[in-house]
Amino acid sequence: MKAWQLHGPADAGSQPLRLAEVPEPEPGPGEIRLRVRACGVCLTDVHTVEGDLVPPSYPVIPGHQVVGVVDAVGPGVAGVRVGERRGAFWLHRACGRCPACRRGEENLCPHAAFTGLHVPGGYAEAMVVPAASTVPIPQAFTDAEAAPLLCAGVIGYRALRLSGLQPGERLALFGFGSSAHLVIQVARHRGCEVVVFTRSPGHRRLALELGAAWAGSAEVLAADEPAAGKARPTGTAGDGWPPAGPEGGAGASGVVPRAAGTAPTSAGEARTAAGKTGTARVKSAGPGGAGGGIDTGKPLSLEGSDPAAGGRPPLCDRAIVFAPAGELVPLALRAVRPGGTVVINAVHMTDIPSFPYRLIHGERVVRTVAHVTRRDAREFMEVAAAIPLRVAVRPYGFDQANQALYDVKHSRVDGSAVLAMPSAQA
Ligand SMILES: [Zn+2]
Ligand SMILES: [Zn+2]
Repeated sequence: MKAWQLHGPADAGSQPLRLAEVPEPEPGPGEIRLRVRACGVCLTDVHTVEGDLVPPSYPVIPGHQVVGVVDAVGPGVAGVRVGERRGAFWLHRACGRCPACRRGEENLCPHAAFTGLHVPGGYAEAMVVPAASTVPIPQAFTDAEAAPLLCAGVIGYRALRLSGLQPGERLALFGFGSSAHLVIQVARHRGCEVVVFTRSPGHRRLALELGAAWAGSAEVLAADEPAAGKARPTGTAGDGWPPAGPEGGAGASGVVPRAAGTAPTSAGEARTAAGKTGTARVKSAGPGGAGGGIDTGKPLSLEGSDPAAGGRPPLCDRAIVFAPAGELVPLALRAVRPGGTVVINAVHMTDIPSFPYRLIHGERVVRTVAHVTRRDAREFMEVAAAIPLRVAVRPYGFDQANQALYDVKHSRVDGSAVLAMPSAQA
């Protein structure tokens, strides 16, 4: 079979992957073989290619958002049939015995193996994977649409779960790339109001299209900070914005100007934990339209919908930070009420600047998301189909793997990049 192989760390712009003819893998006990139809291209793949993530050996076949059709089943596999469409994701296997696994936190298993890093991934015509580490692909999605759900979607869903968001609560999203554009749809489906902080006009427009109550720059969170020495507002949920303290003038803390100056560009903020990049742009089909192509049309404009110009968003119950900019964390804390949660959904993040204790006082919680569990993947695919989510896809031919990697690295992708086999449903 044909497979894209990485023979050592290399710049994503140097045509790092080589197309090779390799033996077709045979499924072992408990494993199935997927005839690959589509494989998402993720910023994590760029990290693998460039040596930020180190595989145990080379060559490596990257790719961990894999949609395929089962064409062989190993011994001892129950409940999976040849011909079924299934998806593989980042978690390939966990040990099942360590304390983390026993707690149900297999994503934190120190012995976990990850698809496309420790084991061959989906940049190939076929791959083998434990049947238990795959999920059925709902009919609501084409092959190409389903691929990004398996990484950006699942990790976003885990972030949402860890945030503790309750129906009817208000959620803040910082950064609006591939993962966030799926999370907002889940939150809206649960009757939650969503506010989106992003500097990208296109992302703001998309956020409003997808039901955001407010979309604007995170700088507004800094700009409203009272001058040093002023009494703080009452700060109860729903009023008193932002929950500012007596010491924190915007110019005095040092936090604010830096945050404003280095708030993420649309390129930076698209780099989520899931590693997705690109200006998320959904197809023009109406809500619920899961089939069809993407809107590859002209850049989106704000057309007067920029609330950052004057307005400010209401205080939120939860926040998820997708952009890997540490400066956003104190701003996210300003955005949530006492008792609220800030979840950081980023694998790499710039240093978080020091900030006044009062920003986290009031039982606010900051936590991160690392990897996903099989339960996350199963649950999310069902949720995604029930809504159903609208997915923005930028398809590439299988022969364009190096180009796709380069584009993902440089955030040139509208929507989620997906390698589509000739057999793939667009
Ligand atoms: Zn374990
Ligand atoms: Zn990924």
